[in-house]
Amino acid sequence: MNLLIIGPQGCGKGTQAKRLSLKYGIPHISTGDIFRENIKQKTELGKLAEDIINQGKLVPDDITFGIIKKRLLEDDCKNGYILDGFPRNIEQADMLEGFLETEFAINISTKDKEAINRIAGRRTCINGHVYHVTLNPPKKMGVCDVCQKPLFQRDDDKPETIRKRLKVYHEKTKPLIEHYTNLGKIIDINGEQPIEKVFKDIVKKLER
Ligand SMILES: [Zn+2]
Repeated sequence: MNLLIIGPQGCGKGTQAKRLSLKYGIPHISTGDIFRENIKQKTELGKLAEDIINQGKLVPDDITFGIIKKRLLEDDCKNGYILDGFPRNIEQADMLEGFLETEFAINISTKDKEAINRIAGRRTCINGHVYHVTLNPPKKMGVCDVCQKPLFQRDDDKPETIRKRLKVYHEKTKPLIEHYTNLGKIIDINGEQPIEKVFKDIVKKLER
């Protein structure tokens, strides 16, 4: 089961990917997580990615694909995977399809206004535990429930950065979505519904 999950930041695709990963026993591979881990560890890749991400730009295709390829060759991907954050454009899709064939591309759509509201309320601790000021608040304001570290807003979660990213997202992913639609592999999902309903919609279409 080789799956892709496509959607703008704030559409809840990370949450859905994690649930699909549990249900089908396939790894959730998030390029965002991989980059954040590298930034935290201050690796060469991490330093490079940090500058690019903080400017609201995307990491170059060849760098991202190199990382993904290595990850997809690991043992736990034998029965499939769910890729989150890659491909983001048609060039990346061509790279991927030349390497492994995708079974379904799940496209979760959300209006920009909704996406901005969701992301701007996001708070995280240094260990990557994520909250939302209204949708998923911590028990004690400003403090992580799990590790008791202070919560903060990531630079790439600030509204001006999100707006830039959404604009780039729409420009780049439109041809990507058309590409998978033409192949009959797209699964269109309305992301502006409760998490549980979004999940049910995805599973229904996957198992159809
Ligand atoms: Zn924490």
